[in-house]
Amino acid sequence: MNLPIDQLPAICDVLVVGAGPAGSAAATLLARGGLDVVLVDQHVFPRDKVCGDGLIPDAHRALRRLGVLDEVMAQAQPVTHAGLISPRGIRVDVPGTLAVLSRRNLDDIVCRGAVRAGARMFAPLRFVAPLEEAGVVVGARLAHGEVERTLRCRWLVLASGAVPQALMACGMALRQGPSGVALRGYLKNEAMQGRIDKLEVVWHRAVAPGYGWIFPCRDGVFNVGVGVFTGRDVNLRVLFDAFTRVYPAARELVAGGHWLAPLKGAPLRTSLTGARFTRPGLLVTGEAAGSTYAFTGEGIGKAYETGMQAAEAVLQGHACGENDAAVRADYEARLAALQPRFSLYERANWVNRHPWLADLVLWRGTRSERVRRRMSGVLDESSNPGQLLTAKGFYRLFTE
Ligand SMILES: Cc1cc2nc3c(=O)[nH]c(=O)nc-3n(C[C@H](O)[C@H](O)[C@H](O)COP(=O)(O)OP(=O)(O)OC[C@H]3O[C@@H](n4cnc5c(N)ncnc54)[C@H](O)[C@@H]3O)c2cc1C
Repeated sequence: MNLPIDQLPAICDVLVVGAGPAGSAAATLLARGGLDVVLVDQHVFPRDKVCGDGLIPDAHRALRRLGVLDEVMAQAQPVTHAGLISPRGIRVDVPGTLAVLSRRNLDDIVCRGAVRAGARMFAPLRFVAPLEEAGVVVGARLAHGEVERTLRCRWLVLASGAVPQALMACGMALRQGPSGVALRGYLKNEAMQGRIDKLEVVWHRAVAPGYGWIFPCRDGVFNVGVGVFTGRDVNLRVLFDAFTRVYPAARELVAGGHWLAPLKGAPLRTSLTGARFTRPGLLVTGEAAGSTYAFTGEGIGKAYETGMQAAEAVLQGHACGENDAAVRADYEARLAALQPRFSLYERANWVNRHPWLADLVLWRGTRSERVRRRMSGVLDESSNPGQLLTAKGFYRLFTE
């Protein structure tokens, strides 16, 4: 873990850039598959990552497959419900397999899993630019301060998250700006421990076009934040202050608690848009490929999933002696299969812009067990939020 630059090899099978959820998941499967994998990150692990820290069922499934779910749950705060709260204060508690764990700890566990599987992790090591020969990516220039090295590889997997610099250096960014932004802080309030025990998600006109959240961590600590999914300029600090004023539980939490660190914001790239996914020798995965859901901002589970899809495409190609084009076509087809779901989340983003829709949907949820079951299905991905906003969805909302 965190090997120094002077131990960097000259060549490997796969170089994975970024040791967040997407990169570590890809590295784990690739190393398990017997390939020589180098994983690099610009930060020494464990490192902080601005996030709500909420793990929903897709993340649980991926962590099980990566073999680290027990280790994660030994440190996480388990949560049994998401509490959805509308502008008029209508509340529906939706059951689900959920948890909260700081990204500092979560990403460290998953990255260590990749190293146990056989990947070599180098940090701090910054990806500068790809090495190219006749239009094919054949390696990378990597730097630690002023010291620069080159590493040749058969495949470069770019899992560099929502910050676009690495994408741009590879000529893969179709859009530089983010598709959303979010802000969060950690607040300690021991008196509220156990009183807020669900993943609370709150819609309100004062927070539109986004939503606010309170996610309970362990030991009376809460992750409190606001997020918006729009390319427009939005003052998140104003929305954050509005959230902690208009939502009574947030007001009480803040009044009786103290902040553990300054609030921090970060960009999001959503809806599988904003980047090219492949070019010869290169696959883009995780949030760099836009793998975070619009509407909810959930992206940890989908980053694991797309990272594993990239690894499977490479392993399949390696096993079958397929050429570069076949591997890229396979990976692009895997992402295309996920696209309809991302598009429906994009549509569901209407609720953030028009919070009265949350009043309507949650009011129906308080009256219909079947509507509540569908909401639970959104959490575990057996049903889809965007379908609530089709004509058929509205019809079913009032008839079931
Ligand atoms: C405020 C906020 C709240 C959120 N809340 C939630 C939530 O509660 N639940 C949820 O599921 N999702 C949430 N998300 C989304 C989630 O954080 C992302 O979907 C997820 O982190 C994407 O994983 P990734 O591996 O693709 O990228 P990242 O986690 O961003 O990892 C990318 C890694 O690449 C490294 N890197 C970048 N550039 C370079 C370079 N040039 N050289 C070397 N290394 C590099 C970075 O240091 C980083 O470690 C939230 C996002 C934000 C901003």
